[in-house]
Amino acid sequence: MSNLELHQIDNFPQELLEISIEKLYTLFPGPTLLHLQGKRAEPVFVSVLLHGNEGTGLHVIQRLLKKYQHSVLPRSVSIFFGNTQAARYGKRVLGNQFDYNRVWPGTVEPNVQETIVMQKIVNEMERRNVFASIDIHNNTGLNPHFACINKLENCFLHLAALFGHTVVYFLTPKGVQSMAFSKLCPAVTLECGKSDSPSGTVHALDYVDAVLHMQYISKDPISPQDIKLFHTVARVHVPADVTFSFTDQNANILFKRELYKMNFSEIPADTCFGIVHSNNNARLFAFNDNDEELGEKLFYINNQQIKLTKPMMPAMLTLDEAIIRQDCFCYLMERLPHPEIPYAN
Ligand SMILES: [Zn+2]
Repeated sequence: MSNLELHQIDNFPQELLEISIEKLYTLFPGPTLLHLQGKRAEPVFVSVLLHGNEGTGLHVIQRLLKKYQHSVLPRSVSIFFGNTQAARYGKRVLGNQFDYNRVWPGTVEPNVQETIVMQKIVNEMERRNVFASIDIHNNTGLNPHFACINKLENCFLHLAALFGHTVVYFLTPKGVQSMAFSKLCPAVTLECGKSDSPSGTVHALDYVDAVLHMQYISKDPISPQDIKLFHTVARVHVPADVTFSFTDQNANILFKRELYKMNFSEIPADTCFGIVHSNNNARLFAFNDNDEELGEKLFYINNQQIKLTKPMMPAMLTLDEAIIRQDCFCYLMERLPHPEIPYAN
């Protein structure tokens, strides 16, 4: 897309409160940052629609703005409406764009229009002394609602555990919003289940409202019963030269359909992920945080079956073949011991 510019506004058209995700581009044709004043000046930053097909964030903002239509917000809020052009077509990202959640400062992408826009937002929010950052997402598999963090500090753990006990700590992929904001303030990515799920909207709305009411975010150690912390060990990809399917017997890898039910459950070593056909080269890639490829350490092939070498907890497993190609097949996680982080780190 040519001439991608960040638009900043401090009021919004009434149509915003009801508009559909597909029509949002008619109000905000490009990336738009809306600043609203509240009783406490330091704003909460909320980003929505970094992925155009993940609608919960917009629904949360619409409900939040309606709730405070005739009263003052407890705290200022700055809302970023991300990829409204992809949202127009119900897509995560369009073919001529970079993924809006891979282009924030710290990204490995080249200097492109998207990275410049995101850098401007971070600069602006730093100038406004941002209080906390919340990036709202959906996913396609059967996953619980959970928050992700990129720093193991007490205030991050508290902010994440307020959304739910399950918290995921990750350092890749690079260039995600929450990682960029973790340099400025406690920051979370919320995974709110499927895009059309009303419970995801209610949960995330209650959460954003609660954060807006917080006077401060605790730096005290968090108690073990309040958090179950996981760490991503690897992102699993299907190599570009390998075909795959959940139904087509002729694909190089025929994945097991039941896999999608295994998100956030520990599965034992030797669990079969799929059957390998025809292509001698059929295999899975697994990248750790340093982008080292661990496919052969985490999977082995025996009797045409791709199996796990050790117990693991998958997340974000999906049956959506486009997402698997664009993003990844799944993440593999391990439970982290309870973090013992002293006060005020
Ligand atoms: Zn997303």
